Amino acid sequence: MLRTLKTYFGYDSFRPLQEEIINQTLAKKDSLVLMPTGGGKSICFQLPALLLEGTAIVVSPLISLMKDQVEALQSNGIAAGALNSNNTETENANLRRECLMGKIKLLYVSPEKLLSEIDFLLCDIQLSLFAIDEAHCISQWGHDFRPEYTQMSILREKFPEVPIIALTATADKITRTDILHQLRLKDPKVFISSFDRPNLSLTVKRGYQQKEKSKTILDFIVKRPHQCGIIYCMSRSKTENVAKMLQENGIKTAIYHAGRSVMERNKAQNDFINDKVQVVCATIAFGMGIDKSNVRWVIHYNLPKSIENYYQEIGRAGRDGMESDTLLFYSLSDLILLSKFAHDSSQQNINLEKLSRMQQYAEANICRRRILLSYFGETVNKDCGNCDVCKNPPERFDGTIIVQKALSAIVRTNEEIGTTMLVDILKGFNNAEVIEKGYNKLKTFGAGRDIPPRDWYDYLLQILQLGYFEIAYNESNHLKITNSGRDILFGKAKATLVIIKREESIIKSKKKKSIKESKSEKIVYDNLDNTIFEELRVLRKKLADEQNVPAYIVLSDKVLHSLSTLRPISIEEFGNISGIGEYKKERYGKDFVTLINKLVKE
Ligand code: ADP
Ligand code: ZN
Repeated sequence: MLRTLKTYFGYDSFRPLQEEIINQTLAKKDSLVLMPTGGGKSICFQLPALLLEGTAIVVSPLISLMKDQVEALQSNGIAAGALNSNNTETENANLRRECLMGKIKLLYVSPEKLLSEIDFLLCDIQLSLFAIDEAHCISQWGHDFRPEYTQMSILREKFPEVPIIALTATADKITRTDILHQLRLKDPKVFISSFDRPNLSLTVKRGYQQKEKSKTILDFIVKRPHQCGIIYCMSRSKTENVAKMLQENGIKTAIYHAGRSVMERNKAQNDFINDKVQVVCATIAFGMGIDKSNVRWVIHYNLPKSIENYYQEIGRAGRDGMESDTLLFYSLSDLILLSKFAHDSSQQNINLEKLSRMQQYAEANICRRRILLSYFGETVNKDCGNCDVCKNPPERFDGTIIVQKALSAIVRTNEEIGTTMLVDILKGFNNAEVIEKGYNKLKTFGAGRDIPPRDWYDYLLQILQLGYFEIAYNESNHLKITNSGRDILFGKAKATLVIIKREESIIKSKKKKSIKESKSEKIVYDNLDNTIFEELRVLRKKLADEQNVPAYIVLSDKVLHSLSTLRPISIEEFGNISGIGEYKKERYGKDFVTLINKLVKE
C-alpha cells in the first residue's frame, strides 16, 4: 500500500484513517467516510482502485468535479476517464471500449449515466469497487439533494460482491443515517475524521462599514500577490459592486451568481481555476464544482446564515494543506437582514437558532476554532493559536458612559430609531431627517462626537450582544431598551466593553513584540526562496498551458514551496519530494531541476 502511495501520488505516509478505510475496501466491505474538504478522501478509493483487479466506478454529481479528478489522476499516470453527457458519442464509445478491454482503473460517471449503464457496460466489465462521492446529495435533508442519487440502492442488489464506499464532507446525523439506509450498505463501517482544518486561519472583523471593508479587502489582496481567493457576498448586486471596486484597483476579478448566464458562470469558474483571474466575487451559488487546491483565502463580505454554510465556504481554501487565510466581516445591518429572513422563513425556529449560533461565533471572545469544532460535535482541549482571538485576546474596559450615551439617545427618541439614525444623532450629523424630526434639539445630539462612526457601529454590536437593547424586526428594526439596559442607563450597573483594535494599532503592537514569540508553524521564506518560487510558478504555468490543464494539476502549491526551499538539483532528489510520484518525476523532473540549477548558480 505504501509503495503504491509513493509511486503514484508521491506521499510517504497516510493521513489519519486513510489506511483503515482502504483496508476496509480491500477486504470487500462497505464503508461511509466523513472527512472535511481537503481531508484526503480521494486517496481512500483511488488507492484500492489501483490495488484491486478491475475497474472502479466513481459516481460524482458534477461534471466539473469529474474533470478535475480525472485530470489529476492522469497527471499521475493513472488510467482514468469520465463518462458523461459533455463528451461526444465517439468519446464515450472509445471509453466504453477501453473499459471492456480492462484498461481503465477508475471510471467516473454521473448518477444518470450510472443508471443507464447499469445493465450494459457495468455487467460486462470486471468491477473493483463503487465510490459514491458527495454522498450527502442522496439525502433530502442535505442541501444539495439530487433525486437521481436516491435510486442507487440498485447497486447493492445487482452487485452484491462489489464493495461500496460512500464519501462526503458534510453530513449531520440524519443525513448519515439516510445515506446508509438508501445505499443499503451491508454491515458498513462509518469513519468520521476530525473536521479540524488547522491550516485555515480564522479572523472576524466587527462593525465595519462599506468603505472600511473595501480598504481592508484591498490591503489584504495587495499583501498576497498572485494568491487567489473567493469573496462571498450576500446578494448578486454586492458581488458586482465589490468586483467593480477590485477591478478599478487593477485586480483581475470575476463575478459568479445565479443571475448570470450559464456561459458567463462557466467562464468565471474556468478563469478562476486556470489562474486567469485572481479573485471571484460570488454568492453561495459558487463553489460546489470547485476542486481547485490552491485557493489561498476566502473572505465573507457578509455574515453567512449558518455555521454549516460558513464552514463549507471557508473550507474551499487550502485544500492542499498550505497555510490559508479566512476573513469574515460581521456587521449589524447583516444581522438585522438575516434575522428578518429567518423570521419570515418557513422553518423559523431552526433558522433563527442557526443564525444565533453563527452570531455567537462572530462575537466570540474565546478561541474561534473551539467554537466551530464543538458545533460539529468535537471537543478540543486547547486553543488553536491560529485565530484572531488566540492571536490578540480581547481586552476590556469600563464602557458604562458609552453605553449610557447610546441608550439615552434611544430613549429620547421614543425608541423609534434604527442604528444608522442612532449613530447620526450620537455624532451630531445635521441631515434632513434629523432636522425634520427635531432630533438635533435632543440633549444627546452630538454626545458621541469623540468616537468615530465605525467604532460606534462596533460598540452597538457589543451592546446588542450584551443584551442592553433589542431590535424590533417587526417595527422597522427600531431599537428597544431592555431591563438590563435600563439598569445601565440609570447607573444601577456597570457595562464592560471590549477595546476596539484596528489593523493599524495591531501592527504597531506586533512590531514591539519579539519575533521569537510567534509560535505559528508558518515556514519562513527568505528572498531567494521567493525569487525561486516565482520562477517555478512561471514554469508550472507554462507546462500547464501546454497541456491545457490548471496549474495545480501539474504540481500543487505545496510541492512548489517544497521545491523552492529544498531546491533539488537532481532528478532523484526531485522525485523524493512529497507529492511527486514516479510519473511526475519522469515528466517534469528535468524541466524543474534545470531551472533550479540555473537559479541557484545565479
Ligand atoms: P477531499 O477530496 O477530501 O477534499 P483530496 O482527496 O482532494 O481531499 O485531498 C486533499 C489534498 O491532500 C490533495 O492535495 C491530496 O493530494 C493531499 N493528500 C491526500 N492524502 C495525502 C497523504 N497521505 N499525504 C499527503 N497529502 C495527501
Ligand atoms: Zn484559536
